[in-house]
Amino acid sequence: MVNTSNQAPEKVETVQGVLVANGVSMTFNPGTSKEVVAFRDISFSLGTGEILAIVGPSGCGKSTLFNIIAGLLEPSAGSVVVDGAVVSGAQGQVGYMLQKDLLLPWRSVLENVTLGLEVRGGDAAKARDTALALIRTYGLAGFENALPKSLSGGMRQRVAFMRTLALDPKVILLDEPFSALDFQTRLILQADVKRIIRSRNKAAILVTHDIGEAISMADRVLVLSHRPATVKSIHRIELDIASEDAVAMRRSARFNEYFDQIWSDLDIQVQAMA
Ligand code: ADP
Ligand code: MG
Repeated sequence: MVNTSNQAPEKVETVQGVLVANGVSMTFNPGTSKEVVAFRDISFSLGTGEILAIVGPSGCGKSTLFNIIAGLLEPSAGSVVVDGAVVSGAQGQVGYMLQKDLLLPWRSVLENVTLGLEVRGGDAAKARDTALALIRTYGLAGFENALPKSLSGGMRQRVAFMRTLALDPKVILLDEPFSALDFQTRLILQADVKRIIRSRNKAAILVTHDIGEAISMADRVLVLSHRPATVKSIHRIELDIASEDAVAMRRSARFNEYFDQIWSDLDIQVQAMA
């Protein structure tokens, strides 16, 4: 449309994505002796069905960034936009999954998956139907009434993931969710979680220390530098091997090239013990 009046043209959406981070910076205790600049000027955008992995040294601010995206913490500068609205306070658009599953031990699998929906309020029968559908579709049929203590670590993380999905968030934050699992279980969950995020059109950010996990799960891998952290590089991952074939993928030349580039960007000083 041609703007023929003297008025300012309508605001044009220049950056698209279900999640957009614009120059996000975080300094704790500014201006005091305890000042910590965690990171500066982090920008990226994420579309539906997309997974962004973030790797970076310990203490560079990955969990802090997640708290900002979830609306639990105000950034010192910049903003995060989820689904067109600037994040301010937790509003349920963003779901979280951590290394610890935080399941309630006295509640069954079903009752753990419905937990978030109960807290939110609403129709209990509908919550139950939503939870049962997730449990039965994603590999826990028959365990509806089991207690967490009778489940393996992988199954418990699966329940935690379903509890997050039940709330139907636009964005899912995964903070090292597989790091306590054995290698085989990790490979299976990585492939399943990736497939589910894509098929349900979620946008997800995965924080991980495992470069292989980042490459095999993500569409892009963002590398953060040491603190005060900035975006060191972003690698678009294009592998021609299906992620279901985890072993073949990890053997491919492309996979190893990505691994070497990201490892070099991470600039981790590994020192042998004397
Ligand atoms: P990561 O998850 O990448 O390991 P964090 O986000 O946990 O890093 O922490 C980033 C930096 O900010 C660390 O140096 C940490 O000590 C500091 N930090 C985190 N939370 C606070 C806080 N509430 N007050 C002061 N410093 C904090
Ligand atoms: Mg952390």
